[in-house]
Amino acid sequence: MSTSPAGHAHLGGSTWTVACANCGRTNRVPAAAKGSPRCGNCRAPLPWIAEAGDADFGKVAEQADLPVLVDLWASWCGPCRMVSPALEQVAKDLAGQIKLVKVDIDESPHLARRFEVQAVPTLLILDRGRPVARQTGAAPAHALRRWVDESLSASHGSADPTSGRPR
Ligand SMILES: [Zn+2]
Repeated sequence: MSTSPAGHAHLGGSTWTVACANCGRTNRVPAAAKGSPRCGNCRAPLPWIAEAGDADFGKVAEQADLPVLVDLWASWCGPCRMVSPALEQVAKDLAGQIKLVKVDIDESPHLARRFEVQAVPTLLILDRGRPVARQTGAAPAHALRRWVDESLSASHGSADPTSGRPR
């Protein structure tokens, strides 16, 4: 299992660097944190994109305070490479509302079994670790965005969509 080259092994401690869309400040965003990341300069919500594997999926995805869009992908999968930028666009559009977590199924056999991945990419939406939506195959950003919006509103019900959950 310790075949990861070039520092890819310490996913839980990894950070992602992102420029704030509002003020341009470059921020470092950790893979796992409480709440959701905001710009250190202007406090605008930042897109949250992280990687996780068998060892840190709980910390990075299931314990996240935001709904999580999980991208179960594989390096040999052409459609995965197409859907990846579309998912990142959705994560940017929905900064502060969703977290994108990428899982390489070849490096995460337990997760692949647990989510019964038959084809890649398989996309899941987790709400507090609970799967609320699932789809297989690539789709353009606007279709993914609509799927995410519909899945989240269905998951939260229509009673009071503005109140959110108590923290
Ligand atoms: Zn900013």
